[in-house]
Amino acid sequence: MTRAVTRAGTRTRVLVLGGTGEARELAARLTADGVPVVSSLAGRVSRPALPEGDVRVGGFGGVDGLATYLGDETVTHVVDATHPFADRISANAAAACALAGVPVVRLQRPGWTRHPLASSFSWVDSVDAAREAADGFVRPFVTTGRQQLQSFSSWDDRFVLVRVVEPPGWDVPASWEVRQARGPFGLDDELDLMRSRRVDVLLTKDSGGALTEPKLRAAHRLGMEVVVVRRPPVPDGLEVVETVDEAHTWLDS
Ligand code: NAP
Repeated sequence: MTRAVTRAGTRTRVLVLGGTGEARELAARLTADGVPVVSSLAGRVSRPALPEGDVRVGGFGGVDGLATYLGDETVTHVVDATHPFADRISANAAAACALAGVPVVRLQRPGWTRHPLASSFSWVDSVDAAREAADGFVRPFVTTGRQQLQSFSSWDDRFVLVRVVEPPGWDVPASWEVRQARGPFGLDDELDLMRSRRVDVLLTKDSGGALTEPKLRAAHRLGMEVVVVRRPPVPDGLEVVETVDEAHTWLDS
């Protein structure tokens, strides 16, 4: 069980940088342990699933803002449990924690590089590169997220199935179908969706985890090409754990 008091005798106060299921799970575990925890959300999603414990919403104002927050709120530990593609906040967390002298760990679920089908995927370094890799297909299924959806705006000459959690916020081409949905998505539903829309290529980020993994198996079963955007690198020197259990143990130690 995570101690509520550090060895130095100060009261433990954990900041969890969130926006993921793992962040919510960790906040629930710490709350159950009686450890004060505040979860931070970026505020991008209109109706986010809220973690247990205290929650704050919105940016900190860069590295300096986050370092100031850590001091003002007497944060003793930071767990950066943001999405594997949220690379700016991770870099900020590493730098701010170094400035403020607060220990930090990156909780990042394993990616799909270790997926049994990984060798059959086309791996690319960016969303733009994913578009280039899939340019020869006529009915793409785009699941790379809302923020870089405009990378595909030149695909106004074809049917594009887009799945996003939040609406795109701009007028997508008339030939596109936008489905607003939040996972998990089951294998049978993914097969039905891909068959009914006759999609011929799947584009995804290497988000990892089980919630959206069935789309990989469905696409493979239908003989479709799968284009996967590699994760950005973890900032230098940032220790990484892959599970909520490991993050909990890190806090304990
Ligand atoms: P990002 O590019 O790494 O961060 C951009 C800025 O947003 C940061 O500099 C920070 O502003 C603010 N920010 C990001 N996460 C924050 C958090 N948890 N609490 C407070 N401020 C935060 O982030 P992003 O890719 O836009 O992702 C935003 C959020 O959505 C993250 O919390 C992430 O876990 C979640 N998410 C992202 C993805 C994805 O594909 N990127 C997918 C699912 C969920 P300041 O510099 O002002 O502090």
